[in-house]
Amino acid sequence: MLDDMLDYAEQLRERPVWQPIPPQIKAGFHESLPQHGKELSALHQRFMQEIVPYSIGNAHPGFMGWVQGGGTPVGMVADMLAAGLNANVGGREQIPIAVERQILDWMRELFRFPDTANGVFVTGTSLANFIAVVIARTKALGAQVRKQGVPEKRLTAYTSVGAHSCVSKAMDLAGFGTDALRLIPMNEQYQIDLNRLAEQIRDDRAAGYQPFLIVGTAGSVDVGSIDDLSALAALAQSEQCWFHIDGAYGALGMMSDQIAPRLTGIERADSIAFDFHKWGQVPYDAGYILVRDGDNQLATFSTPTNYLVRETRGMAAGSPWPCDLGPDLSRGFRALKTWFTIATFGAKKLGEIMANTCDLAQYLMRCITEEPKLELLAPVNLNIVCFRYVGDTRLKNMTAEQANALNNELVIRLQESGLVAPSSTMIGERFAIRVAIVNHRSAQIDMDNLMQSTLRIGDELFASPN
Ligand SMILES: *Cc1c(COP(=O)(O)O)cnc(C)c1O
Repeated sequence: MLDDMLDYAEQLRERPVWQPIPPQIKAGFHESLPQHGKELSALHQRFMQEIVPYSIGNAHPGFMGWVQGGGTPVGMVADMLAAGLNANVGGREQIPIAVERQILDWMRELFRFPDTANGVFVTGTSLANFIAVVIARTKALGAQVRKQGVPEKRLTAYTSVGAHSCVSKAMDLAGFGTDALRLIPMNEQYQIDLNRLAEQIRDDRAAGYQPFLIVGTAGSVDVGSIDDLSALAALAQSEQCWFHIDGAYGALGMMSDQIAPRLTGIERADSIAFDFHKWGQVPYDAGYILVRDGDNQLATFSTPTNYLVRETRGMAAGSPWPCDLGPDLSRGFRALKTWFTIATFGAKKLGEIMANTCDLAQYLMRCITEEPKLELLAPVNLNIVCFRYVGDTRLKNMTAEQANALNNELVIRLQESGLVAPSSTMIGERFAIRVAIVNHRSAQIDMDNLMQSTLRIGDELFASPN
């Protein structure tokens, strides 16, 4: 199995990124509960033949969809070790927790957070953002909110319309409802409009609301923009709001000398949510929430019970435990693959990989702007490029709907080609081919393949009578 997966990593380029799933393979995963076991080798074979070829392919250098990391063989074997150990890292006196705290130390250092900062691994930034909203809730209403619930619909939070939808979901889950999240328009740089934000806070206060939380974005999901984090920090301070940053993929850009200056202000956040499984190249899943004042995190999540009693000696020592810092009790050893990845490659190398994905995005942007049949749809801030095929306007013009339909079909055909796999988004009213370069394996050849395939398929669709 190990050999097969190392071969897989080595031979990725010879495989399709993704391919349509034959119906009989999907149907094969509707068996009834097995009463008796099968040979492991038969299952291994099935894994290689029926699961590997029909996964989404984010390890492949030609994968450019959504925002997904590629992982590394180092992370893979580290995860194998973690599974072999089968550590439950919810608490108790064990070195796996010291490994997780080692990552905390590194993150304090990276983001210049004080020693009072705490943090915890979670599945991903969706959950990390939720945890931040809940901590901000406790901060605003006091610990009694944990007993009494959110009293009345008075508290309001603020983020940009370009923020990830999980911020809105977090407001829903935390009991505020999504209406309590004010979605502020963006400026031409796709950053939150600071004047509109200040206005909205003023209006809300006048109407009797209590602003409690501002969520900035470091690397937006649509176009990779970074809000003015210093200005948001100052505003949050003067408005006495919790300042949280969704830095899902962007925050770890602090490891790059090229990217870090653009994240100025991140060190002033009350909390930062980010993923090691995106730009950090750690295999799925490895999200993290870092909180400046760890006492707020403890006050929100620690829950004394008899069966989880703490000691100063024996196996129940080592308090506070990770289960005091988030909703999870039982949890796996995500810290191990993260520790192995950072320790094997070093922060500098990981930062260079991130900067290289930004350089590839700049290269692709230049190719697009030099090609009259393509149109760039948003500024390229980091590693995300949004563009569309517009065709040869000397031959014919397309209506807005035709252009959107053509580009929608184009993205699907690119994905079905197996060579390159972007995803899509809407930039205003325009359907965009969206490329996010996250994987350390992606190279200039993949950008060239994307250009060639886009033009070839675009020309075919442009020429067809429909
Ligand atoms: C990916 C992403 C998320 C969601 O993170 P998950 O790890 O998928 O839960 C949130 N915000 C931004 C900006 C993202 O890119």
